[in-house]
Parts: sequence; structure tokens; C-alpha cells
Amino acid sequence: MSLTPIFNPAVVQQRQVDTRSIQALDSAHYLHPFTDSQALAQRGARVITRGEGVYIWDSEGKKILDAMSGLWCVNIGYGRQELAQAAYLQMMELPYYNSFFNTTNVPAVKLATKLCALAPKVGDREFTHVFFSSSGSESNDTNIRMVRHYWSSLGQPQRKVIIGRKNGYHGSTIGGASLGGMQGMHEQGDLPIPGIVHIDQPYYLENALLGETEHDFGVRMARQLEAKIVEVGADKVAAFIGEPIQGAGGVIIPPASYWPEIQRIVDQYGILLISDEVICAFGRLGAWFAYEQMGYKPDLVTFAKGVTSGYMPLGGVMVGNRVSKVLIERGGEFNHGYTYSGHPAACQVALANLEWMERERIVERVRDDTGPYLAERFAQLLQHPLVGDARTCGMTAGLVLMKDKTARQMFPPELAVGMACRAHCFGNGLIMRAVGDRMIIAPPLVMTRADIDEMMTLIVRCLDLTLAQAQAEGWC
Ligand code: PMP
Repeated sequence: MSLTPIFNPAVVQQRQVDTRSIQALDSAHYLHPFTDSQALAQRGARVITRGEGVYIWDSEGKKILDAMSGLWCVNIGYGRQELAQAAYLQMMELPYYNSFFNTTNVPAVKLATKLCALAPKVGDREFTHVFFSSSGSESNDTNIRMVRHYWSSLGQPQRKVIIGRKNGYHGSTIGGASLGGMQGMHEQGDLPIPGIVHIDQPYYLENALLGETEHDFGVRMARQLEAKIVEVGADKVAAFIGEPIQGAGGVIIPPASYWPEIQRIVDQYGILLISDEVICAFGRLGAWFAYEQMGYKPDLVTFAKGVTSGYMPLGGVMVGNRVSKVLIERGGEFNHGYTYSGHPAACQVALANLEWMERERIVERVRDDTGPYLAERFAQLLQHPLVGDARTCGMTAGLVLMKDKTARQMFPPELAVGMACRAHCFGNGLIMRAVGDRMIIAPPLVMTRADIDEMMTLIVRCLDLTLAQAQAEGWC
């Protein structure tokens, strides 16, 4: 079916946007997320008007390679007509109906079935059900409600405490931000809420002892979970939550020894394990879900972003058999849900997205071809004088800017060298994110080797410009 009557790319390409007036209206009326509004008003927001493949364009016509897939979500790239068509047809047929009050809709049922089929069974754990929301944050709020309801249903209502990690990210609602371990977020909201505590992150560069191997470090960090369970009281702990790889925290890839030790501990104490795969699922690490590859078997998996490649807001929780059995057989009514849980148009877009990914073998491509190629190319960055560490996993990667890489000396944080590097990236048509002095990417999974080459050329150019600036300013 043709969409020509309602969409004409040629017209969109020619549409002129008056940048100054949009910027003025933007600062007059639009409060942005995670933004200093005063600083933004002085600078003026960059107005993004169009996307195609791995590129976006701003209102001045500047073409930018989006090495962050928007916010880690546009996994199949921009401008995919199949998804627009799925939304259009579903909206014409049934744009919305709720899943409360004994009702359901076909796209939500099909998507739940599809997601359960995609999630690998590990040992005695399999995913039987899905609870839908519209974002990662909401899904983690659902997790808090669900694990507490689970334990209450089992006659253990005192099991309420959820253990997360410092510098973990689980969203920006009060629940999500509490589960996360972002200090700045906690400070602004009187967080975490009671019943949520944190252990250290498995970040080798920052937290390892002198001479400690990565293996030993991974085990030691995981054992903080055991110490915390004992400190809180084993009969009070409900669950542990972690990201397979910390995304927003700076693409922190834990040592291989970390997750299996976490699994041993949650098994020993019988607590639930929540894998927050909002970034890592749907091919980002070269698998549909990350838990199996990282060596653990969660009871609940948070997802969002890549399920629709960001084309529609959709998230949810994959519910494993251990939890679903109790909820269904013993739980009674679960007093929780969202207006948009199981939104038919969002679910239909997700189905189109997953179908397209399967047809194009995107996950296999990341696992067998582009992921290993990115790893090879990224390792070469270690030759650059500024780069003290460079690691990838699938199609996400992080590098560390160091003042003196031989002495492993970082720049003073107040110099904001990462932000300087990010500015060079913007200036040169590349989106790369800075987390302190860690520069991170999560490019669209549809990137070809040629796209990766182009991205690496831009990254090296921006590192060179950052080095030149650092030398000119006397930073190193
Ligand atoms: N969990 C993780 C691991 C995330 O990376 C994010 C978002 N970056 C969230 C939860 C929150 O998702 P959302 O912004 O859709 O609420």
C-alpha cells in the first residue's frame, strides 16, 4: 500500500524552518529534560528536522552522523517506511483502546507472544508474560510494584528492599531515579525513596585496587551484593536490579566474572533478579536479550527504546515463570497499570520493527560482523595520545580521555575535556556523548562497515582537535 498521499519525502526535504524563531519559541515555552534552561536559552537549541538511515539533519541543513541512535533507541535507523505504515494502518483501524476491565487488543497480544518467543530460556527460567508501559522509567516503577506484590502474595510482605548500584541508570520517575544511583538526581529529589539501597558499580578503571585483576575485581564487586543483603537482613531483601552494561553511566562493561557471581548470590539468598535491558536488548549487544550472553538468568527484564526503535514510545517488563506463576495463582488483583499499557499502535510498530530486524538479520549482523568490526576499529584508538581506554560490546563503545595515559592520570574534572570533545564532534557532524571524560557511542545497528569507517574517521578527527585544544590551553 502506498503512503504517497500523506507523505512525500521530497516535500519534507525542502521544507524550510526558521531556526531563530523556533529557538525563541523553544526557550519561551519548552522546558527540556536534563537541561540547564538558562544556559540553553543563551545558546539556542539545535533544531533537528529530519532523519534518514544513520544521519540526521538540523534546520540549517547540516548533516550529522548519529552515533548515539537518538538516545540509544533508533536501532534500525531513521526513515523506515514499514514502521510508519504499520502505525498508519493501526491508527485507522483502532488507534487506542485500554487493556483494563477484561479487554485486550490484537497487537498487544501478538507483541507479548513475540517477545516471550524471542527471550531465551535459561535453565528453569523462561519468560511467559509481558506487562506493557510506555517507557523505561515507568517499567522500572512497575518492577518495584511487582516484586513487592510478589513477595506479599507469598506471605513475605516484609521483603521490600531493592538493591541497585551507584552510577546505575533506571529512569527519571521517582521510582526509576531511586533505583538508579545517579548522585545529582538523588540530590534534587530527596531520593532514593525508602527501601532502595545501592552498592558500588563494577567500573574497573575507577574502583579497582592496585594490581587487582579484572576477574578478581568483578568477583569482589559482586560480593558487595552479598554484604549488602546481610547488612539489610536477608529476609527483607526483595530484589537486585542492574543493567547488563551500564549505558548512561558511561558504557561501563563489567568483567566477565561479575554477573555469574551475582547470579550465585541471588540464588543463594532467593531474591529476585531484575535485568534492566532498556539499552542492551534488541540487538545492541548482538543478541535479542543480553542476560544469557552475560551469564545470568533474571526473573524480570525491563525493556523499552529498541523495541520500537524509538518510532513510538513503548516499554515494559518481561515476566519470568517464577513471578508470573505466583502473580496468576496467588496474587489477586494487581492494582497497577497505565492508560497506554499495550497501546495498539505502539505495539503494532514494535511488531513491524522486530519483523524488519528478523528479515534483515540485524542481530546476527551485529553479533558476527559489525560488532566485531567496531571492536577492531575501536581498539586502534588506543594508539591516540588522548585515549587511555577503549572498549566495545556489540554496537556500543566507550573510550576514556586521559591527561597522561602512561601514568593513568585523568584530567581535572573542572576542565570538562569530555564536553570540549563533544563540542568538536557536533562541529564536525558527529553525535558522540560525553559522560565526564568518557566518550560513548551506541550507533544504529544498521550501520555497515563503510558507515563504521566513516564514523571512526570523524572520531579520530575530533580527538585530534581535542588534543590540539588541550595543548593550546595548557591542559596537558
Ligand atoms: N533504564 C535504562 C537502563 C535506561 O538506559 C533508561 C534510559 N536511558 C531508562 C531505564 C529510562 O528509560 P526512559 O527514558 O524511557 O524512561
